[in-house]
Amino acid sequence: MIKPLDLYLYNTVTKKKDKFIPKDQQNITMYVCGPTVYDRPHIGNIRSAVIYDVLYRLLNFIYPKVTYVRNITDIDDKIINIVKSSGQSIKALTEQMTQFYEDDTAEVQCLQPTIAPRATTHLNEMFEMIKNLIDLGHAYIAEGHVIFSIESYSGYGELSRRSVDEMIAGARVEIAAFKKHPGDFILWKPVAVDEHQYGFDSPWGRGRPGWHIECSAMSTKHLGKDFDIHGGGVDLVFPHHENEIAQAVCANKGSRFAKTWVHNGFLTVNGEKMSKSLNNFILLRDLIDRGISGPVIRYFYLMTHYRKPIDFNDNAIHTANKALNKLGSIIEPLVKEYNYDLEACDLAVSDILNSSKCENIDESVEILCNDINTSHFLTRLLIPQPLEHLAMLCSLIGFKPSILYLHLQCEIAPSILELGNKREALKEFKDWNAADAIRDEIIAQGYEIMDQKGGGFKINKIIN
Ligand SMILES: [Zn+2]
Repeated sequence: MIKPLDLYLYNTVTKKKDKFIPKDQQNITMYVCGPTVYDRPHIGNIRSAVIYDVLYRLLNFIYPKVTYVRNITDIDDKIINIVKSSGQSIKALTEQMTQFYEDDTAEVQCLQPTIAPRATTHLNEMFEMIKNLIDLGHAYIAEGHVIFSIESYSGYGELSRRSVDEMIAGARVEIAAFKKHPGDFILWKPVAVDEHQYGFDSPWGRGRPGWHIECSAMSTKHLGKDFDIHGGGVDLVFPHHENEIAQAVCANKGSRFAKTWVHNGFLTVNGEKMSKSLNNFILLRDLIDRGISGPVIRYFYLMTHYRKPIDFNDNAIHTANKALNKLGSIIEPLVKEYNYDLEACDLAVSDILNSSKCENIDESVEILCNDINTSHFLTRLLIPQPLEHLAMLCSLIGFKPSILYLHLQCEIAPSILELGNKREALKEFKDWNAADAIRDEIIAQGYEIMDQKGGGFKINKIIN
């Protein structure tokens, strides 16, 4: 079922918010540049994952099917450099880092994409595209490299809207004597004789693909020559995305490649650019280890519009934590209605999301459809509304009732849980007076304790 909603997305190509008109309303196609798996993801990488997860959920809410492809770049100079110094195999390193990426994105409640293709298993698709580019006069061979000629494509620079000279001055484009134009970029790169183990056989000798061709080949393979949305961080506009377009459009005559280009803003830490040299480089895992929960970090990202820069600092995390607790306390009576069966409660809410009951779309969802305005959307969650409706809105952006409720539970001090256990033991010995005294103590400390049907107890914070 397609919901009667108009979605608007800021398109980097047109430089304005465009009404989203899919190629096929029955299947929305979205590609997002995924991680280069040489290191555990930092909080900037995870911002991108969360933003496109919200868009994925919103598209899934509106349309019957969404095919979301997010690639894994598992061959790259950074990977090779690490392997050279650590002695690990490329396979061992990239599999470990891919697993970390999946674990860390799961912590912040991201759904898995429909397809997560790896570059090294798509070499044939890259060969085919490179061959096409050579045959059509868009690429040339020099000193063992296959190189894309930017002068062969008149549309080059249309995404970033800058002149070729400006772009080259502003980006780290590898200058090499064998390039016909300094802006020409590599499609295939040879490996040195003593580094054969880091390469693959190709029609142009042993080597490895350029980064840009990977994304053009994998998106075309899984989504077709023309698809709906391409996303990534704003730092990828040039040269990565500009080059992706050039390759795909030139290799597939008559193709436009992606129609809507969405880019998320960058992240700073206490107002400064995150960098290893400034010692402010934060991995998502560092925050989890510090006891900051995944949902809090997700909420923090959503407090800022995705196109704006976002600053990570303790104050912002504190605000996110408080807001999430508030939502948890509002949702708690709904969880109670389901006898604290969290799975049943989540399921009931997702049924509402998927059912026709949602045809009565409210203003909050329209706000989200206005270029994924999560910051405005979050403020509307606190407006008095039926609990089921609030739960539906929270679920829509990745906060199921169970997530909100469990977050609230995490806030309970261990000493209070200990009192609950002590009371439980006293009940077993039928020492009711002592058990009641402990209940009063728990209430005095701002909590309520409830006995459960099948035994055990539940403690909640009393929120005024
Ligand atoms: Zn890419």
